[in-house]
Amino acid sequence: MLRPMAVRNPTLLFRPHLRELHGYTPGEQPKIRGLIKLNTNENPYPPAPKVLKVTQQAVDGRLRLYPNPTADALREKLARFHGCDPLQIIVGNGSDELLAMAVRAFSEPMSREVPPHFSRVQFFWPSYSLYPILAQIHGATPIKVPLAADFGLPSVKELKKGKIWDFRAALSLVTTPNAPSGRGYRTADLEALCEAQKGIIILDEAYVDFAEENALELALNYPHVIVSRTFSKAYSLCFQRVGYFVAHPKVIEGLQKTRDSYNVNGLGQVAAEATLDALPYYHKNFDRIKKSRARLHRELAGMGWAVLPSQTNFILTRPAQGSAEYWLGALRDKKLLVRWFSAPDMNEWLRISIGSETEVDALLQAIRQIQASA
Ligand code: PMP
Repeated sequence: MLRPMAVRNPTLLFRPHLRELHGYTPGEQPKIRGLIKLNTNENPYPPAPKVLKVTQQAVDGRLRLYPNPTADALREKLARFHGCDPLQIIVGNGSDELLAMAVRAFSEPMSREVPPHFSRVQFFWPSYSLYPILAQIHGATPIKVPLAADFGLPSVKELKKGKIWDFRAALSLVTTPNAPSGRGYRTADLEALCEAQKGIIILDEAYVDFAEENALELALNYPHVIVSRTFSKAYSLCFQRVGYFVAHPKVIEGLQKTRDSYNVNGLGQVAAEATLDALPYYHKNFDRIKKSRARLHRELAGMGWAVLPSQTNFILTRPAQGSAEYWLGALRDKKLLVRWFSAPDMNEWLRISIGSETEVDALLQAIRQIQASA
């Protein structure tokens, strides 16, 4: 008779590189009544009424069935939206899933037999804190390449001189516009980087609908460039988890092989399709958010706070007095949740998502009250 293995410490049953790994820490989703949530860059406005209606109507007997495995109807609509072929699009359970797939598809786990650049996953820093974790889970080598002090993108010349960036790296990721700074990048500068890069380069445009430029054309023109987009932020659909990549058909074909069979849930597909039929509603929201962003920037700067120019739906700001950690707590006491990162290179800053007009009012009022009572 087979005897079950005596497991004293289940941690030791994991592969060694996973035992000490710290997983990704998502922004809190507390259930506090009346809380104003400005910590995870969700959109303050609901999905378009038609999106809610169509999604609700899809909750019927078809929940019994598997959804379309390759999200074909959605890919066709996205292809029309972007002026490309559906074969240039893959849809994921949020763009997070696609980023994880890309790490697995393009980089090798570290080993003595493999030249280092094959296992290299590099990205500018600070940026999306999930990237290094995805590389670590896979056993690849995460490499952080510092952005300029103002979060600007180093030029190809500077990268060559700095020697940290590897132009042969298996996978490179650029968050554009950058998170958590909100800084936007010029397509011309991104193109110069893509020109020089030999391996796959992902331009993560999670926040691009709030920016002045987008680099989608680079994914259509360069076979090693992927543009990553999401319905989460600009299209108020975090809950449904729908993101997508645009890339060369051969890149998409390869990625399709590594996908889970039914990776995008049916209601997510329905909601994302309906979203693409309601674009004018969302364009109005982008304008409202950009207006609120300008107002928040102006008012905080007026109170002596350092504010970085943002091309996203959040701003990065350094309080005039008191530590950022103090402000996180003081605002939380007033039922306003913002994001603070404890990492030493970021711990002077607060990242604040742009809320609705009334949420921005409440935030500014709370800041004035806290400042006055300090
Ligand atoms: N990229 C960046 C830069 C992000 O901030 C996020 C959201 N945290 C994502 C990708 C992932 O978004 P989603 O999985 O919701 O599509």
